[in-house]
Amino acid sequence: MSQTIGAAPALTRLAEDEVIFRDSVYEFADREVRPLAREMDEHGKMSPGLIAKLFEMGMMGVEVPESYGGAGATFFHSVLAIEALSRVDPSVGVLVDVQNTLIVNALLKWGSEDIKRRYLPRLATSTVGAYCLSEAGSGSDAFALATRAVESGDGYALTGRKLWITNANEADLFIVFANINPEAGYRGITAFLVERGTRGFSVGKKEDKLGIRASSTCELLFEDCIVAKSHILGEVGKGYKVAIETLNEGRIGIGAQMLGLSQGALDHTVKYIKERKQFGKPIADFQGVQFQLARMAIDVEATRLLVYNSARLRDAGLPFLTEAAMCKVVSSEVAERVASMAVNLYGGYGFVKDYPVEKLYRDAKIGQIYEGTTNMQLMTIAKQILGN
Ligand SMILES: Cc1cc2nc3c(=O)[nH]c(=O)nc-3n(C[C@H](O)[C@H](O)[C@H](O)COP(=O)(O)OP(=O)(O)OC[C@H]3O[C@@H](n4cnc5c(N)ncnc54)[C@H](O)[C@@H]3O)c2cc1C
Repeated sequence: MSQTIGAAPALTRLAEDEVIFRDSVYEFADREVRPLAREMDEHGKMSPGLIAKLFEMGMMGVEVPESYGGAGATFFHSVLAIEALSRVDPSVGVLVDVQNTLIVNALLKWGSEDIKRRYLPRLATSTVGAYCLSEAGSGSDAFALATRAVESGDGYALTGRKLWITNANEADLFIVFANINPEAGYRGITAFLVERGTRGFSVGKKEDKLGIRASSTCELLFEDCIVAKSHILGEVGKGYKVAIETLNEGRIGIGAQMLGLSQGALDHTVKYIKERKQFGKPIADFQGVQFQLARMAIDVEATRLLVYNSARLRDAGLPFLTEAAMCKVVSSEVAERVASMAVNLYGGYGFVKDYPVEKLYRDAKIGQIYEGTTNMQLMTIAKQILGN
């Protein structure tokens, strides 16, 4: 019994390699991302030079095995990287998040040996990926997607439109969900790998967004786009499994993004309230402000426990569905609350773009929407509790 107690480490106690990894990513973010964050937000564009550096740092293929040219690390390492980057800029956080927790993850789990050999080395070193499920008429009801795939020679012809696709402007590889047999409902959904430049495929309008503005979000158009059968990810008609299982893990990544954002807002606030003087002393000296700061810190710590626990459960091969849904709900609500309090404690300076918390407040909102809205997570949690 005492052995069991002794063997269970604290959730937030990181292994030595995890500490080194997290700190090196944060140093990178502080040095390379921070100076670009405001400009990228204003222009709504990710710096191509920065993406190249993310590849050089090994950030884009964290879980890709070394035999395929990746870092050969764990899902938990991806989470640490997303958190550290999002502490500085959540737009960069989501670029790395989609690449690792959705694209690489899906290929590792569902890719044939041929697909792995062809794409994993590229994803680890030079190719950005995008995950294309949502459409204008199918968001929360994702499996109502209308993009069709019709058998044509030794491939399928894809026709339809995807909406809201993260990384679409930077990506060269797209995981696209289409239905080969709408009469079979979700059992017709199939996942295809589509490369940029494939005939019949184009990236359409880019959205002008409230937050995470440097992260591209675009429409995709498919018109008789021929994809070879060898580019099917997983089995024909089992794309719904690819989608569900990847998104179950992906939402831990969004939890990490929201955690990093909250930590970033807290960091800025601590610094600012020690410097800002009113009534002849730093505003940090006022107990009213200290209590608000303490609440922010509690929120961040509680979020970190939920995010790390979900990621650790996933790496241990244990059930994590409910925990991942909980971590997404809490982390995104905390991000909104903590960033909002950061704006309050900056006063008027919190409301202008010269200071960083205004952007974090805008960036926080997306956490409650993408990779399953809060209501969808609440449904998952309730279903598990009720045993339905
Ligand atoms: C910036 C951004 C990036 C994105 N990136 C991607 C991406 O890379 N790939 C991708 O495939 N998609 C992406 N999405 C799409 C995203 O996942 C969807 O927007 C999201 O799933 C919600 O779908 P919807 O917008 O159609 O809202 P809807 O599904 O129409 O929901 C509207 C509201 O109704 C509620 N609602 C719906 N159904 C129910 C119900 N049964 N019970 C209770 N409440 C319900 C929802 O919770 C929500 O509050 C992105 C979206 C954005 C904004």
